[in-house]
Amino acid sequence: KVVVVGSSNTDMVVKSNHLPVPGETILGGEFLMNPGGKGANQAVAARRLGAEVVFVARVGDDIFGRESVQGFGKEKINTDFIAVDAENPSGVAVIMVDEKGENCIAVASGANHALSAGDVDKAVVQIESASVLLMQLESPLATVEHAAALGAKKGKCVILNPAPAQSVSDELLANLDFITPNETEAEILTGIKVTDQESAQRAAEVLRGKGVGTVVVTLGSRGAYVQSEALSVLVPARNVDAVDTTAAGDTFNGALAVGLADGLSIEAAVGFANQAAAISVTRMGAQSSAPFLNELEL
Ligand code: ADP
Repeated sequence: KVVVVGSSNTDMVVKSNHLPVPGETILGGEFLMNPGGKGANQAVAARRLGAEVVFVARVGDDIFGRESVQGFGKEKINTDFIAVDAENPSGVAVIMVDEKGENCIAVASGANHALSAGDVDKAVVQIESASVLLMQLESPLATVEHAAALGAKKGKCVILNPAPAQSVSDELLANLDFITPNETEAEILTGIKVTDQESAQRAAEVLRGKGVGTVVVTLGSRGAYVQSEALSVLVPARNVDAVDTTAAGDTFNGALAVGLADGLSIEAAVGFANQAAAISVTRMGAQSSAPFLNELEL
């Protein structure tokens, strides 16, 4: 079982042939509304790969929140610990995309920003009976820190996907079994510019020095560099024709959590995550591109 503590957003996407400049209005775009948010994307990815998933989150008392929760229910994710916030609206991301795939995004976190330590505590029985706790940084840092400390105290495998990029406290790092930065995030966390395996290794050493058990630096089409006490290895990505890398990291993290919950070795779990993420980049969309277990070649 995997408990995901994190964000749920509704992505509102307008596609047009170019991005408007300040003051400009553009006509003729296509509109799409998609479920998103890193927490939600990772919860869906983990569930589709076969894990029992409990999603601890907060939505507003509005149509977006209700639709999100309904969507999670359809995926058979446990929604009992998604709080409905009376004061804050559901999280929304307004996204504009041009013909070349270039985008502009503004996120109104809304209820995600009110996700509290108390919300996490309500799910303590679920955390106790889970093997993996998975978090991201679209929730308040104090809540993430509280959840990590709780997970560590209960002896769970605690994974932090440090996205979107921001620096975090040493206390938080010390409670993590896994951290999964991409190159940008690894640089923000360590000050080391990560461009290849060698620099990923140096960044991983810094994070390991702060008490993180295993560091997994995702390197896009090259795969992921893994460093733990016993491992220092690049687990190569699958070679695929990528069409949309949105949420590749989310699928990777959801899958990594499932692999570890299933008792795979670290290297095998990262290989499993690479496989799932490779499939997701061959399809358009965020949550919708997350593969099901039967699509993976095991
Ligand atoms: P993020 O999407 O968070 O920036 P990355 O770009 O590092 O993270 O991608 C996360 C993971 O997704 C990679 O470790 C890899 O497994 C997979 N991935 C991303 N891009 C590709 C690609 N072009 N081909 C195959 N796998 C990919």
